[in-house]
Amino acid sequence: MAKIRLENVYKRYGTKVTAVKDFNLETEDGEFVVFVGPSGCGKTTTLRMIAGLEDITEGKIYIGDRLVNDVPPKDRDIAMVFQNYALYPHMNVYDNMAFGLKLRRVPRDEIDRRVKEAARIIKIDHLLQRKPRELSGGQRQRVAMGRAIVREPKVFLFDEPLSNLDAKLRVEMRAEIAKLTRRLGVTTVYVTHDQVEAMTLGHRIVVMKDGEIQQTDTPLNLYDFPENKFVAGFIGSPSMNFVRARVEVQGSDAYFSIDGQKIKANPTLSASLKAYNGREVWMGVRPEHIGLKGWTTIPEDNNVVKGQVEVVEPLGADTEIHAEVGGAMVTAKVDGHAVVLPGDTVELLIDTSKLHAFETE
Ligand code: ADP
Ligand code: MG
Repeated sequence: MAKIRLENVYKRYGTKVTAVKDFNLETEDGEFVVFVGPSGCGKTTTLRMIAGLEDITEGKIYIGDRLVNDVPPKDRDIAMVFQNYALYPHMNVYDNMAFGLKLRRVPRDEIDRRVKEAARIIKIDHLLQRKPRELSGGQRQRVAMGRAIVREPKVFLFDEPLSNLDAKLRVEMRAEIAKLTRRLGVTTVYVTHDQVEAMTLGHRIVVMKDGEIQQTDTPLNLYDFPENKFVAGFIGSPSMNFVRARVEVQGSDAYFSIDGQKIKANPTLSASLKAYNGREVWMGVRPEHIGLKGWTTIPEDNNVVKGQVEVVEPLGADTEIHAEVGGAMVTAKVDGHAVVLPGDTVELLIDTSKLHAFETE
């Protein structure tokens, strides 16, 4: 096991592209860290720099106490699992898993022990004689993981390992990866563009955009205390609503004014909104923090807005309503049994203890 530390790491391609900008991170021993962000934000590049597959333009990377900037990949004690598995088609599963160890001249009986142990852990003992083409997508993904496990690395690196699997298998394998890494206790960095995968797997999550870290935090802190509008909109599903509102301060209270309708900010938010009196901000509220009058436990207290319902999507436990509020489209996740139809004018109650505010650009 080992900690990973990145200090002021940059990656530039030529003079124009800065793929990674001033990246800083220190993991715990055995921690599961997820890099998440939209396509092209620098996740793979950062992972490949940790692996040694990509030169570092500037900065330092440590694995354990060792500065690895100039250490070749094979000497870094890491194992990487990719999206496209990269299994050798002509070798059976056993040989695919054994191959890396043979190259390292690990003794034959030691190889046999490690391959069988890994196969047992990931439940592919019965597949060892098969060729990759005789396996399902999920089984191939297991073999790719098995190949990483037999290396007994200090660090696991995963780059979108589940993105080629169908939705159901993805959820299954996600749980497997969580179980496996917990059991092995190996420090793991996992790259994904899927915020649900990030939230369910990560002890901590690094949210990236345009090569820069936006926030590094636990899943719940990202959800409760997003530091900027990007993180707020990226984490959580369905996404947080953003409505342009004018701030009106009255005494110690601040209000969001939306097209003449007023919502009272909670005391903490009011304090930080004082400086914005008379100015426009983004009011942020998650769909699950909006209720429908008559169908919610959110108390009524200067927190009601009128909405014109455009779309109603019943999901069973909840119903998603898309409604126009003060010129903006707002999604509300309300009680699944609420009686509401497109075209209705409804009163929406905002849970003001869960409101956010962000500066307009
Ligand atoms: P992600 O994995 O988050 O989708 P990448 O790390 O693959 O993003 O890419 C980050 C940025 O670096 C992108 O703008 C991409 O186009 C650029 N990039 C990646 N590899 C190269 C390369 N070999 N040459 C030039 N630009 C590259
Ligand atoms: Mg990538």
